[in-house]
Amino acid sequence: MTRDWNMPRATGACVACGRPFEVGQPFLACLYETESGYERRDYCTGCPPPTDPPPLGQWRTQRPEPAARRSLPFDREAVYAFFDRLEDSDRPEHVQFRFVLALLLWRKKVLKLEHAADDATPPVWEFREPRTDRRRRVLRPDLADDELERLSGQLEALLGGGTVAADFVVPDALGENENG
Ligand SMILES: [Zn+2]
Repeated sequence: MTRDWNMPRATGACVACGRPFEVGQPFLACLYETESGYERRDYCTGCPPPTDPPPLGQWRTQRPEPAARRSLPFDREAVYAFFDRLEDSDRPEHVQFRFVLALLLWRKKVLKLEHAADDATPPVWEFREPRTDRRRRVLRPDLADDELERLSGQLEALLGGGTVAADFVVPDALGENENG
C-alpha cells in the first residue's frame, strides 16, 4: 500500500525546457497520479504546465540552499486546496495522504486539532480551521507512527525543493505540538 508514497524527489530542473533551477529560484511543482504511483514534475516560471491531464495538486516552491536548516516556504493555499480535494476519496493512499497533509497544516497553524478519536471506528481526528471556525474530520489511516513520520518527511520534501526535514516528528495527540 505504501509504494504509492515512494515519491520522486525534485529533479532540480524544469521538465519542459530542461533548464536547471538556481538556488532560490521560484518554480511550480505539480503532482500527478500515474499507474505506478505519484509523479512530480517541476516547471520554471517561463513554462506553463499542461492542463490536461490536470495535476492532483500544484504549489509554488523554490530551490532551497544546500543543507539549509531554515524552514522552506510553505504554499498554504495550495496545500489546503490539496487537502480539500482529497476529502471525498476513501482510497487508502488518499486517506494516508490527507492525514499527513492535515498534520502538516496543523504544524503550520492552518488547522487546530480539536479531538483525536483514535479509538473510534474508523479512527478520526477532528480539526478546526481558526479563520472560518470550520470543522474538518480526517480519517486516521491504519499506519504506525514511524511510518507516518516517514510519509510526513517525504511529503515535506515533496512540497519543498527536495530537502527532507530530518527533525519532523508526528505530533502526539495527547501532548503539545511544537506550535503549542
Ligand atoms: Zn522551463
